[in-house]
Amino acid sequence: MLETLRRIVLEVDSAPTFQAALDVLVHSVREATGTEVCSVYLLDERTERLVLMANEGFNHDSIGVVSMTFDEGLVGLCASREEPINLQDAASHPRYLYFPETGEERYNAFLGVPIMHRRKVLGVLVVQQRDNRRFGEGEVAFMVTLSAQLSGVVAHAKVLGQMEVVRSSRATATQTYQGITGASGVTLGRAVVLYPPADLEQVPDRAVEDIDTELALLKKALESVREDVEALDERMADTLMPEERALFDVYLRMLDDNALGGEIAERIEAGNWAQGALREVIDEHMQNFALMDDPYLRERMSDVRDLGLRLLAQLQEQEAEETREFPENSILVGEDISTAMLLEAPLDKVCGVVSATGAANSHMAIVARALGIPTVVGVGDLPITSLDDAEMIVDAYLGRIYVQPSRVLRKRYQAIIKEEQQLVAGLDAYKQREAVTPDGHAVPLCVNTGLMADVARAKDRGAEGVGLYRSEIPFMLRERFPGEEEQRQIYRQQLEAFAPRPVTMRTLDIGGDKDLPYFPISEDNPALGWRGIRITLDHPEIFMVQVRAMLKAASGLDNLQILLPMVTTVSEVIDAVALIHRAVAELQEEKEYEVTLPRIGVMVEVPATIIQIADLAKHADFISIGSNDLTQYLLAVDRNNPRVADLYSSYHPAVLRAVRYVVGEVHRVGKTVSICGEMAGDPGTAILLMAMGFDALSMSASNLLKVRKAICHVPMQRARELLDRVLAFDRPELIRAAVEQEMTELGLIDLVRPQNQARSQA
Ligand code: PEP
Ligand code: MG
Repeated sequence: MLETLRRIVLEVDSAPTFQAALDVLVHSVREATGTEVCSVYLLDERTERLVLMANEGFNHDSIGVVSMTFDEGLVGLCASREEPINLQDAASHPRYLYFPETGEERYNAFLGVPIMHRRKVLGVLVVQQRDNRRFGEGEVAFMVTLSAQLSGVVAHAKVLGQMEVVRSSRATATQTYQGITGASGVTLGRAVVLYPPADLEQVPDRAVEDIDTELALLKKALESVREDVEALDERMADTLMPEERALFDVYLRMLDDNALGGEIAERIEAGNWAQGALREVIDEHMQNFALMDDPYLRERMSDVRDLGLRLLAQLQEQEAEETREFPENSILVGEDISTAMLLEAPLDKVCGVVSATGAANSHMAIVARALGIPTVVGVGDLPITSLDDAEMIVDAYLGRIYVQPSRVLRKRYQAIIKEEQQLVAGLDAYKQREAVTPDGHAVPLCVNTGLMADVARAKDRGAEGVGLYRSEIPFMLRERFPGEEEQRQIYRQQLEAFAPRPVTMRTLDIGGDKDLPYFPISEDNPALGWRGIRITLDHPEIFMVQVRAMLKAASGLDNLQILLPMVTTVSEVIDAVALIHRAVAELQEEKEYEVTLPRIGVMVEVPATIIQIADLAKHADFISIGSNDLTQYLLAVDRNNPRVADLYSSYHPAVLRAVRYVVGEVHRVGKTVSICGEMAGDPGTAILLMAMGFDALSMSASNLLKVRKAICHVPMQRARELLDRVLAFDRPELIRAAVEQEMTELGLIDLVRPQNQARSQA
């Protein structure tokens, strides 16, 4: 059985399209189980009906037509119970429902298993048989295993918009999708689908403006590919036999007007742009090929796919020559919007971001938060290819997306956006105030920066320094490592802008989810791999250039602090400190810049550093807790994985207790401790951190005024009592509820759950 299972999963995975994958699946399962009927029903979220998407054994016309709710039929029963239904005599079951469209004969044995993904039912996989028998335990286990494997494929297909049930619903009604908050806020705009080059699957549909131009683009692409194939044919003249070279003739014929060329042109004339038309045609051919038994013809499948990719490359090359237009209020949408994709977009026009992958504390989300752009990530079932130019509401407080919103919903959200602007305007009063509690305790608030744009916002909001400058961000915006002088100028801007207040510059923190396009790192387990200080200690040439640039940039200002990321052992700190000392000595010898030894800090991100915090603090001038990574490693929850996002919480008792322990230990050895993870920017956790006695909290400029307002209204005494109370709780949800209760009593609930009231009526 295991071998059969493996084979089926392989066949499904390698099918060129989603529909082909389903067709292959029902065919193979029917054969493997020796049954007469196999069907896949998938949930259409708009209508909340389970639709027959693929089948062998019924009348073919029933596909896409037969459907039922969770309250109907045995399929509905299986979906609502979320467990296998195994019946010997299905027709005698009270929930049995007969669909004439299927041409169904009397099938007695019925086995249905739900297809589940992230605790949600995506559909049901069913086999049926004439014999009056109950399926055996091994058969049930086989189906359950297969369905679990299939769930990933279905979820992924929904992401890519390949499910016709999803696509066809587009024009009719508002569609709602649920993800996770990446950067809070609400926005309304038009989707601009971003997709990686050379990936045919992700090319979106786009209404064509000028059919003749698209046809001309296609013609040019066809000519270029034709020329390439002819050139290849000539080059191979001495190497290949004539019959082997016949393949090139096949390629050329496929490009003809009466083959692929003509079919793509037809789709363009029907209104899709050239790249979308190409995807549609190749998809269709892939589906047809997948169903063929003839191995020779199935082989042609890879030829068609190859031609499709060649044509796409040509079309995308032509597209790159024109610059893409971004409308005002663009919402960037994609399967995986990276930090680089976000930063390359014209930010003055971007009002929202929606990414099918990612989680609340992925790097892109943090950058979006710093920029104040409402962002929803981990929207697993978004039909991306059909969304380009669609009107969209992003409610990043609730992590929700509305596509093609109704008039009423749009009006409601326009009102919410206005209320939101008023709330922000109400915070203006806190720009000039100091963060001092009503009972007189001052809490220094710093900012996290990375872009120059952060600087103006941070200064305007009265930041008391930079608690974390993410130096990898300027590295991401370039096509190669910036040189020493280039870096010096970048750092100088930051240091000058805040002088005499301190600027904490973190040394290059790449690896994990932070990739540089020109320094790719490919690892099976990047979160536990080569990242942060591990890379820079292996590459002292990169580290030294950066440290020298920082030291030079601070010349005459003396407000630089250097922070070391992803530290695991004391020796890493000793080695890095030695390199910094060496850089200082070199520069002092060179005499061009006047440099002094900066304060050096260690980040607490790896659980081992909690246990050894006193040892580490002795080798550093200060400690800064990176709660984003610390939470990830302490809870063993990938900060980028939407599947486990519910487990990722800075309200987790283990996180709060660990953080408090670190503060106590660092103070015991007489050093200072700050926190620069996103926890500091949430007014709810910020008051707990304040009660723990942090020397400074550092957060994105977008959250600064909210946190300052909270501090100005929560007496330290009350915060300490709250902290003592919540640290005795054993679950994150209890802690969060207690904090929210406190905020409600203090009239501050809007700071943690803004517009909550208004939205629940929307
Ligand atoms: C952290 O891990 O908390 C942190 C501040 O670093 P980053 O989010 O950049 O990994
Ligand atoms: Mg980190």
